Amino acid sequence: MIPEPFEYHAPRSVEDAIGLLEAHGDEAKLLAGGHSLLPLMKLRLASVSHLIDIGGIEELSFIREVDGAISIGAMTTHSELAESELLRERQPLLPKAAIQIADVQVRNRGTLGGSVAHADPAADLVPVLLALEAELCIRGPAGERRVAAGDFIESMFTSVLEVDEILVEVRLPLAPANSRCTYEKVPHKASHLPVVGVAAQVELSADGECAEARLALTGVASVPYRAGVAEELLRGQVLSEPTIAAAAARATDGVEPLSDTFAAADFRLHLARVHTARALTALTALSGARRA
Ligand SMILES: Cc1cc2nc3c(=O)[nH]c(=O)nc-3n(C[C@H](O)[C@H](O)[C@H](O)COP(=O)(O)OP(=O)(O)OC[C@H]3O[C@@H](n4cnc5c(N)ncnc54)[C@H](O)[C@@H]3O)c2cc1C
Repeated sequence: MIPEPFEYHAPRSVEDAIGLLEAHGDEAKLLAGGHSLLPLMKLRLASVSHLIDIGGIEELSFIREVDGAISIGAMTTHSELAESELLRERQPLLPKAAIQIADVQVRNRGTLGGSVAHADPAADLVPVLLALEAELCIRGPAGERRVAAGDFIESMFTSVLEVDEILVEVRLPLAPANSRCTYEKVPHKASHLPVVGVAAQVELSADGECAEARLALTGVASVPYRAGVAEELLRGQVLSEPTIAAAAARATDGVEPLSDTFAAADFRLHLARVHTARALTALTALSGARRA
């Protein structure tokens, strides 16, 4: 289908983009990779009078290590995340999830900022940001503010972003010494979006116990979430079959599952628990991350 007519803007700086957002209010939308927004416009589920293409803003595209953290610009594509040597060495959970997104075409266009801002209940990168307790930098007319990943998404397809704000950067901590991580997903057969996705990182103590456990799930509920009860059960334990089974059984505690033609609520909960167990089991076979 053909979208409604719109005016196209191509600002060259974040400041200019914010100015355009201010000028056009809720008649405007940012265009990043376009892989969520353009289909919605073509189906006329989104009506946009002013499309502000931020693809030409070079300052939004980078991956670098700054002050003991990894800083990533919002326009960084999924392919760039998947292929980044810096991320693979210093925070490998993000590339492990990014490489599992859809196909090359989607990964070459879709962006970290677009994926997070869209607040899809089944985005692959959001659980990674939750598990790693990322910090999101948002810029608007009043300046910059920082929001914890856990506070960014309010409900399905709704974030804390105001209409005149841009998500500019995501900051991740470096992977701790002797940590292991994995991303485990059940892809939808057509879109490859996760029916269920599990991001897992554990930090092992010198005697092999789980000093810290971070688990976040996507696709299961209306927003991706941290599996706090399961994490707590893992702390201080050796990752063994019984401890993994006990934690995985609690990975959906308190969750109201989504239900659709692809996976009914009970099946989704089952998949979430099974794939949490698989993710944790996979961690037992990995070696530690490079010392931070
Ligand atoms: C066929 C197909 C398969 C896919 N499969 C997967 C998959 O397996 N896993 C997965 O996780 N995703 C998948 N996606 C989604 C895709 O990966 C993109 O991440 C996603 O579409 C959004 O990123 P984008 O850069 O395309 O954003 P856009 O579509 O350009 O924008 C999405 C929304 O975010 C807003 N926005 C964009 N950037 C910013 C910003 N910096 N600040 C504030 N607001 C912003 C836009 O205004 C818009 O409302 C798939 C998409 C398609 C079309």
